[in-house]
Amino acid sequence: MSDIIDILRKELDAGAVLSSAEVAQRAVSYWDNSPMVAKALVRPASTQDLSKVLKICHAHNQAVVTHGGNTTCVQGTRSGAEDIIISLERMNNIIEIDPVSNTATIEAGAVLENVQNAVKEQGLFLPLDLGARGSCTIGGNLATNAGGVNVIRYGMARSMVLGLEAVLADGTIISSMNKMLKNNAGYDLKQLFIGSEGTLGIITRTIVKLMPQLTTTNTALAALPDFKSVSLFLNHLKKTIGSNLSAFEVMWGDYLKAVTEPGWHRAPMERTHPFYVLYECDGSDPARDDARFMEVIEAAFESGYILDAVIPKSGNERQALWAIRDDFEAILHPKPVYLYDVSLAITSMEEYVINVKKLLLQLLPQSKVYVLGHVGDGNLHFFVQPGSQADNIRNLSDRAVYEPLQACHGSVSAEHGIGFEKKEWLGQSRSAAEITMMKLLKGVIDPRKILNAGVVID
Ligand SMILES: Cc1cc2nc3c(=O)[nH]c(=O)nc-3n(C[C@H](O)[C@H](O)[C@H](O)COP(=O)(O)OP(=O)(O)OC[C@H]3O[C@@H](n4cnc5c(N)ncnc54)[C@H](O)[C@@H]3O)c2cc1C
Repeated sequence: MSDIIDILRKELDAGAVLSSAEVAQRAVSYWDNSPMVAKALVRPASTQDLSKVLKICHAHNQAVVTHGGNTTCVQGTRSGAEDIIISLERMNNIIEIDPVSNTATIEAGAVLENVQNAVKEQGLFLPLDLGARGSCTIGGNLATNAGGVNVIRYGMARSMVLGLEAVLADGTIISSMNKMLKNNAGYDLKQLFIGSEGTLGIITRTIVKLMPQLTTTNTALAALPDFKSVSLFLNHLKKTIGSNLSAFEVMWGDYLKAVTEPGWHRAPMERTHPFYVLYECDGSDPARDDARFMEVIEAAFESGYILDAVIPKSGNERQALWAIRDDFEAILHPKPVYLYDVSLAITSMEEYVINVKKLLLQLLPQSKVYVLGHVGDGNLHFFVQPGSQADNIRNLSDRAVYEPLQACHGSVSAEHGIGFEKKEWLGQSRSAAEITMMKLLKGVIDPRKILNAGVVID
């Protein structure tokens, strides 16, 4: 057994350090069932424990990889046989929900859905929400600056954070745990850790802003004739519903068709339309909100933006509509399937998707592609089935998605981050000067490069 593992075992409580054999009983990630690989997995129970662990790893030049819920879409938690995994799974307490200041103080390993439910019990609402809610952790959400389905109204994870605590590579604890909305006393250090994918420090606790629980939710799935109608409909909703519009999720026709094949989700309407929009409006005035929602949808029919619509009559029916958007298991076979997450202006989207499809057919003639996205935020996801097992298919698929993005000045990552997966494409979305600055920061904060080495930048 290696020395460092002995030292860690002596410093921590029984059960805190798992051996490589125990690690191998876990799956690599949400997406990959093969056995996890690492020298050991350490499960600190507190910030002080984590600080001790990192001091030891720093002194031994030991590379560590941080794990939250392992739902990363960009291989951000990939580890090798020489790495030690640090999992926040035992630091999962919801420390305080403060109904006066409307804040929640949470440990980083808390699962998002547990936090959402705890907050709801107090009549409050955490606006962060994404399909991985049942597995992903608050620490992982902040480390990736997660987006999700409510960004159009509430912004990304970053915008919800008031306070944050993190541990640096050498074990130093940086605590900026405040509940203040305004604090311009020097640099806003918490922002360094949000979205830096575990490369600058390990997030241990946070204080997030909460909203009052709204009392109305109106949802509809609408079918649209073309992409022009998608943007016209979005503007129509923005003008009429305004800031109550909390989700605007677009599915290209092929996506909805595939996930509603027999044996998967029940199709709520004709499956032959070119576009579908699942949208939601939240408010606090039941009588007016419901009536307004119906008026707006009728006006959209009259204007020809939408061709058909389904309005759920119960919570279960609403969930069934969301499952079509969130549960894409039907298109994850045959493997491999590559998931992309790009950002671009809505005005460029239609042409961009056509160009990606064209290039995919040239480079990978057997491929299939399914498109959906948080279009209200300028964010598209592609699922590409290359339909081939050749060696370079990943690269060909990446080229088909990223090369046409250049002309639109889009980003190779809207919300999933860079991880290991998109590193070679980072230069397409960030200038040389920006990447140099990232490397400088990393060099100063983690000079031995022990934290998530190779994630985002080398
Ligand atoms: C079904 C599904 C739907 C998804 N939908 C969305 C979506 O709509 N929007 C969106 O933005 N993302 C989405 N994602 C991906 C998203 O990035 C993750 O779900 C989530 O934010 C990551 O949380 P996690 O706890 O699983 O982190 P992990 O996957 O464990 O880690 C992600 C990265 O953060 C680092 N990290 C984890 N915890 C910490 C910590 N405490 N301190 C420092 N670094 C840490 C890891 O090292 C890794 O680099 C989806 C994923 C799935 C599987």
